Amino acid sequence: MKVYKFGGASVKDADGVRNLERIVRLNGDNDLMVVVSAMGKTTNALERVVEFMSAGKEEQALSQWVDIVDCHVAIMKELGLQPGVDIRLQGEIPFDPTLPYDENYDQIVSLGEIMSTQIIAVYLLKQGLSVEWWNMPKLLRTDDTWREAKVDNETSAATIRAGWERPNRPQIVVAQGFIGGTADGKRTTLGREGSDYTAALLGNYLDAESVTIWKDVPGILNADPRIEPNTVLIPSLRYQDAVELSYSGAQIIHPKTIRPLENKQIPLYVKPFGEPQAAGSKIAADGIGPIDVPVYIWRKNQILITMRAKDFAFVLEESLSEIFDIIQRHRLKVSLIQSSAVTISVCVDNTRFVPAAIEALKEHFNVSYNDHLSLLTIRGTTPQILDSAKAGRTIMLSQTTRRTARLVVKEQ
Ligand code: ASP
Ligand code: MG
Repeated sequence: MKVYKFGGASVKDADGVRNLERIVRLNGDNDLMVVVSAMGKTTNALERVVEFMSAGKEEQALSQWVDIVDCHVAIMKELGLQPGVDIRLQGEIPFDPTLPYDENYDQIVSLGEIMSTQIIAVYLLKQGLSVEWWNMPKLLRTDDTWREAKVDNETSAATIRAGWERPNRPQIVVAQGFIGGTADGKRTTLGREGSDYTAALLGNYLDAESVTIWKDVPGILNADPRIEPNTVLIPSLRYQDAVELSYSGAQIIHPKTIRPLENKQIPLYVKPFGEPQAAGSKIAADGIGPIDVPVYIWRKNQILITMRAKDFAFVLEESLSEIFDIIQRHRLKVSLIQSSAVTISVCVDNTRFVPAAIEALKEHFNVSYNDHLSLLTIRGTTPQILDSAKAGRTIMLSQTTRRTARLVVKEQ
C-alpha cells in the first residue's frame, strides 16, 4: 500500500479536489491511504473563530464561521454534491466557555480536516471509486496535550492496522491529517502543519511501500521560490539531510515526519500536484548526500533572548540547565544558541509562550531581547555566498562553520 498526503493548497477548491481524483486514479488498483489537510486557509480561519469566541465576540465568531461553512458548501455544489443530503456539516460552533482555550481550540480547529475529508470521500465515492472515510479522532489515540497532542503509537497502530486489514475494506481510505483524539473521545490536534506527520505515522503502522506528499512546488528546492528567483530541485536526499533542513525551518516537510519513516526505511516522495508524473524529490536511506548545492532556509518570526549574569557567581553549565529547564517548561522552540563568558543568547520561535518564559528567565538573569527577526541558514556556503547574503541586511548574530552559516537578521 501507499500513503498519499494532500495539503491545504492542493485541495483549496473544486478543481483541486478533481485533481486529487486524477492523481488517485493514476495509482490504479493499488491500496491507498489518502491523508488530507483542511482546505486552503481553513485552519487559519478556524483559529480566528476560537479567538473571537474566547474573547466573547460571538457575532464576529459566527460571521467567520458562516464564511467557512459557505466556502465548503460552494465547493460541494461545484463538485455536484448536495449539502445536507450527501454531507452534513457541523451546525454549531463547538465552544464551551468553561473549558481552557487550548481545549476549545482543538474541538473547533479540528473541524477543518473533518470537512475536507468528508467532501473528498463522498466525491470520490460518487465518481465510482471504492472509498471509505476514516474518523481519525477515534483511531489515532493521543494524550490531552491540547494543540500539541502526543500520539500513543501502540494503541493507534493496533486500531489502525485492524481497520486496514479488515476483509472487504474498500480500496481507498480517506483520513484526516493533523488530528487525533483522546481515550475519552475528545478531538486533539498535533501542532500546525501536522498532516505530514500523520501521513508518516500511517505509513509506519501499515508498512507502506512509500509515502508521497503532494505539494505546490516541484519537490524539495534549495531555496524558497517566493524569496529566491533561481531555485534548483534536489532530486535525492538522505533522511538525515531532510531532518536538518526541516529543523532549520524549511517549510517543505514537518520536522516530525522523518523519524517514523526512517524507522521502517520507507521512502518519502515530495511531488508537484500539478504535474503528478514528475519525479519530484525522494528522501530515503540510499539518498544522495550531502546536498551539493547551497541551500537557503529561512525561519521567520524569531526572537533573540539574551541572558546576562546578575552577579559574578555565573557558572555557564548551571545557567544552561536552568535556562533549558525554563525553555522546556514553556514549550519554546530553540533555533540557535550562543554563549560567552557572561551571556547566553537563544533564538526561539516567537510564539504565544514567549512572554511567560521571559518573565521566568528574569527571576534568574538580566534579560534583554530583540524581536522581528529571521534566521537564515545557508548550508553548503562559501565566503562569496555568505558575503552576498549579508549585503544590505542587519545581522544581529552570526554563526559559521566551514559549510554552514546561520545569520539572525532583522526582518525588512
Ligand atoms: N490544516 C493544518 C494546518 O494548516 C494541518 C496541516 O495543514 O498540515 O496547520
Ligand atoms: Mg493546512
